[in-house]
Amino acid sequence: MGGRLGAVSTPDGEHDGAPAHPARAVVDLGAVAGNVAALRGAAPTAEVMAVVKADAYGHGLLPVARTAVAAGATWLGVAQLDEALVLRAGLPGPRILTWLYAPGAPLHLALTADLDLSASAPWAVGEVAAAARATGRTARVHLKVDTGMGRGGARPEAFGDLVDAARRAEAEGTVEVVGIWSHLACADEVDSPVTAAQTEVFAAAVATAEAAGLRPQVRHLAASSGTLFHPATHFDLVRPGIAVYGLSPAPEVAGAEALGLRPAMRLEARLTLVKPAPAGTPVSYGHTESTSADTHLGVVPLGYGDGIPRAASSVGPVQVAGRRLRVTGRVCMDQVVLDLGPDGGAEGDVAVLFGDGRAGEPTADDWARVCGTISYEIVTRLGARVPRHYLPGEHA
Ligand SMILES: *Cc1c(COP(=O)(O)O)cnc(C)c1O
Repeated sequence: MGGRLGAVSTPDGEHDGAPAHPARAVVDLGAVAGNVAALRGAAPTAEVMAVVKADAYGHGLLPVARTAVAAGATWLGVAQLDEALVLRAGLPGPRILTWLYAPGAPLHLALTADLDLSASAPWAVGEVAAAARATGRTARVHLKVDTGMGRGGARPEAFGDLVDAARRAEAEGTVEVVGIWSHLACADEVDSPVTAAQTEVFAAAVATAEAAGLRPQVRHLAASSGTLFHPATHFDLVRPGIAVYGLSPAPEVAGAEALGLRPAMRLEARLTLVKPAPAGTPVSYGHTESTSADTHLGVVPLGYGDGIPRAASSVGPVQVAGRRLRVTGRVCMDQVVLDLGPDGGAEGDVAVLFGDGRAGEPTADDWARVCGTISYEIVTRLGARVPRHYLPGEHA
């Protein structure tokens, strides 16, 4: 760091060596590496694509991606083209698939960055082929079939047209179809008949493509739930996201620990103020809650501006000095208040909103349950304002 000319900010929010931000998300890359190893074990006949979209579900794109690759993921997946370009700039080696773009997107950048592209419709094959002509490169394409998700992919009755478009592009040398893929809608409901039905439609689509002369190297269908709960969906490649971060895709079916996963993110903040408050003191906006006895109030410097759901008002669990508390009153933009009890606490004490649970602290699943959402949303919405602090993994 260069002298004393001004505050120098590091990725984990330090200025001149001291944290300027009183909260941080600690991301344990050792946990990420262990989770990738567990997923490889769960799908031993398939390769693993670590899905690192949305800034690696809030955990930080490049540190997580590098760790996942070092731990044996041979592919990386992101939704958006710009995420894929950032990823490639930081990681020259692994295969990277990206799947969401609108007509007119700068697909030539994808090809010069050596990315794999998805195509769900003939127009997309046409644009990929045009980008290939413009760059002089052959595009690697994964044809997507909608086997029942009702979202991306060509519907089965339209898949033949997509295959025909791809065949023509292969014949002119602009495109190579390297993958056939789809996405499961109900794999987290382990007894749902939808997964087997989607798997059948998928196998039929693969057969259609092969009968037309396509020779895809990878067929892929399973995200975390498919990887962990449905071996028949593994095919050549699995695409886990949430499980890479150590969270269960279906906590009511099996918790993280039972799946051999460890939550990688711990969200903590230092109390910025502690003060006594008599019984009957109203707390936070709207006075929705008042203290029930003489107590101490503590201010936690995290709020909905940092991604803490406002739905956590009066219910969000927080651990301070080994004691389980909950948010008192409404979640504000930058702060929440805790009723610390008669014994209080001190400014600077660490409040843990969620972690891996091994020290009795709440988990992202606990937050999801009380907020009526899923752990995916709890970690992914964590704001860019919160510094990420990385614990090295053995592979990092
Ligand atoms: C997000 C996503 C995944 C990963 O899903 P998880 O449930 O987090 O494992 C896999 N495939 C596609 C197409 C996705 O959009």
